[in-house]
Amino acid sequence: MAGRRIEIRGTVQGVGFRPWVHGVARCAGVTGRVRNDPRGVTIEAFADEDVLEGFLEQLRAGAPPPARVVELRSTPIPEVELDDFVIESSGATGDKALSISPDLATCTECEAEVLDPSNRRYGYAFTNCTRCGPRFTIATGIPYDRAATTMSAFEMCPACRREYDDVEDRRFHAQPNACPECGPSLSLVGLGGDLDPATDPVGATADLLKRGAVVAIKGLGGFHLACDANDAAAVQLLRERKHRDEKPFAVMTGDLDAARQLAELTPEEEVLLTAPERPVVLVRARPETGLARDVSLESPLLGLFLPYTPLHHLLLAAVDGPLVMTSANVSDEPICRDNDEAERRLTGIADAILLHDRDIAMRCDDSVVRVIAGTPTIIRRSRGFVPRPFQLARPVAQPVLACGAHLKNTFCIASGDTAYFGPHIGDLETVAALDFFEEAIDRMQTILGVRPQVVAHDLHPGYMSTRYAKALADSVQVGVQHHHAHVASVMAEHRVCGPVLGVAYDGTGFGDDGTSWGGEFLLCFPNRFERLATFRPVRLPGGDRAMREVWRIAYAMLHDAFDGSPQIDSLPLFRGIAPESIRIVSQMIERDLNAPRARGVGRYFDGFGSLALGRPVSTYEGQVAIAWDHMASDEACDPYPFALDRSTSPMEVDLRPAVRAAFEEVVSGMSPAHVSARFHNTVVTVTVEVLEALLAELGRLPVALTGGVFHNERLAAGVAENLRNDIRVLRHGQVPPGDGGIALGQALIADAFLGDKG
Ligand SMILES: [Zn+2]
Ligand SMILES: [Zn+2]
Ligand SMILES: [Zn+2]
Repeated sequence: MAGRRIEIRGTVQGVGFRPWVHGVARCAGVTGRVRNDPRGVTIEAFADEDVLEGFLEQLRAGAPPPARVVELRSTPIPEVELDDFVIESSGATGDKALSISPDLATCTECEAEVLDPSNRRYGYAFTNCTRCGPRFTIATGIPYDRAATTMSAFEMCPACRREYDDVEDRRFHAQPNACPECGPSLSLVGLGGDLDPATDPVGATADLLKRGAVVAIKGLGGFHLACDANDAAAVQLLRERKHRDEKPFAVMTGDLDAARQLAELTPEEEVLLTAPERPVVLVRARPETGLARDVSLESPLLGLFLPYTPLHHLLLAAVDGPLVMTSANVSDEPICRDNDEAERRLTGIADAILLHDRDIAMRCDDSVVRVIAGTPTIIRRSRGFVPRPFQLARPVAQPVLACGAHLKNTFCIASGDTAYFGPHIGDLETVAALDFFEEAIDRMQTILGVRPQVVAHDLHPGYMSTRYAKALADSVQVGVQHHHAHVASVMAEHRVCGPVLGVAYDGTGFGDDGTSWGGEFLLCFPNRFERLATFRPVRLPGGDRAMREVWRIAYAMLHDAFDGSPQIDSLPLFRGIAPESIRIVSQMIERDLNAPRARGVGRYFDGFGSLALGRPVSTYEGQVAIAWDHMASDEACDPYPFALDRSTSPMEVDLRPAVRAAFEEVVSGMSPAHVSARFHNTVVTVTVEVLEALLAELGRLPVALTGGVFHNERLAAGVAENLRNDIRVLRHGQVPPGDGGIALGQALIADAFLGDKG
């Protein structure tokens, strides 16, 4: 006889991992115990040496999805005589932080049961098991068991209870276990017009959708607004009612085959679409698919996702066609949560609302993922990913709350050697968003069992997240520079402690000199940074208005490049703009009135894109930049000329020669595809040249690419390919490159900063 302690890390809690280990152990004739611990799962196993070896082999070979073993460590321990192999409850073992897993998409077994007329769960929208179903969104506290979820209101019937208690059953300790006898149920409610109570709410909803209605549907972490994605009138109606100008809607298809009809999918994209996290995946739309044009308008990218609850499976089967499924909110407000609130807020937007009586404890919007230059990259990290822990390279000295940015806000809590992102909150522009932010922080602190005294925030004094941090009594507050935080987030993802040469390109971020940065080359350490290079600033006449009316940025670029007298008459862009408006913008620049300087590389994408496409307005952030990325031709072309001023500190990239050259090409009628290709090539070349110049002085360092501009496929791929291949390039994957990712970096910088001060 021999004994082993086996420590396993990875996705191994709340996913049926212990029952699986139990089954494997019993079959192999191993005695001992398995339990959750703060870091994963610990097994103590006893048997003959060769039996134990076989047992370890089986554990290494892998657990059924969605469990995932990342690390398995085995150490000998003295043998103990035991009769059996048992699952120990995790109640006694202290740390409950990890016991709540993210929500998991319906597994294939549950899906089959729901669609099987002979199964007792046939047609049941709340079917789940240990491998699937709601988790985070129903958790009200710790430890994670039924009493601390919004399922506590439903008492299990004897049949469900038997499953729940049977260690051999797929529903052993599945906290949301339910059936039509005992669990939540659906109801369809008309908003405004008459609607008879439906005995078959899913069928009635499908009928409404097929007749062109907009129906709100309560899901896991919030409500969706749904309509038939092939019905042009319905999609247009939804767009009008939602006040959503041109931003693309996400589309849910019944299965992967249906998704393939709508988009050209790579194997990586198919993996993402079918993963248990079930994010919205941004893919390249096929032309002429039957989808209403208004779904994504002119955007070359289409957001696709597959059903992730039994309700979605039932509904998509009943409709038998793709559905628009967009978060149920008006413009940029947070997603709805409560039934009453949804009825109130969605009246006038939805014709009816498909409700259920299981409360949502934590709002959690759909996550968004995109394969960028070969790397699956989380753009919006929320349902399915939250609250999955991040393993830190080294532990924080004390728990830290990092409040994130202003737009696309997420916050982060670091404690010990792990960090947890909260759900996607959105833009902190409304009272409702701020309420959600505060409520989510409170709830996360409860389920993690920590109340951090250290609070990290952005340097921007006007951000609501900064104001929230500064108003927290009895806390140690640490302001963190925006782009330093961007770089630290990539470093954290790769568990690199620095130093790193970071390239942070975004639209805007508060610099430590009070001006707007966003084209930054930073030598980053965990606790500080040195700013080595940046971009010549461009004016934003009218401030925020220039982000929308991007022609203003194009004008400001030309004004700068042609020493105050640009010849704009020959440019198509300015033909539709009133001469009076142009004159005012010109005066703003010349008199330095409400025309702040911004160094954000994103602004150059807006300005060049607007100039070449002749597009004066961007109706949502990045609209022109995205169109511009995708239209670039693949021809081999030289970059535009640019200058690098090494006499300043930081040194400064000057794109005025590129503006002049692009101007000549646009005037002479060169295609936008060509101008776009050259512009992208220019930014790639600039980035690589500056990096190599800096590395020549600094020696060998890893390079980190971060900021929302690195959503741009050509830029990300171009820089990675063109750097000398002995340079290690760190890119985002699990942490968003944009402002939704900076909270992690903020937390680690604050910790390192305080650690230095002792
Ligand atoms: Zn299941
Ligand atoms: Zn039941
Ligand atoms: Zn940023």
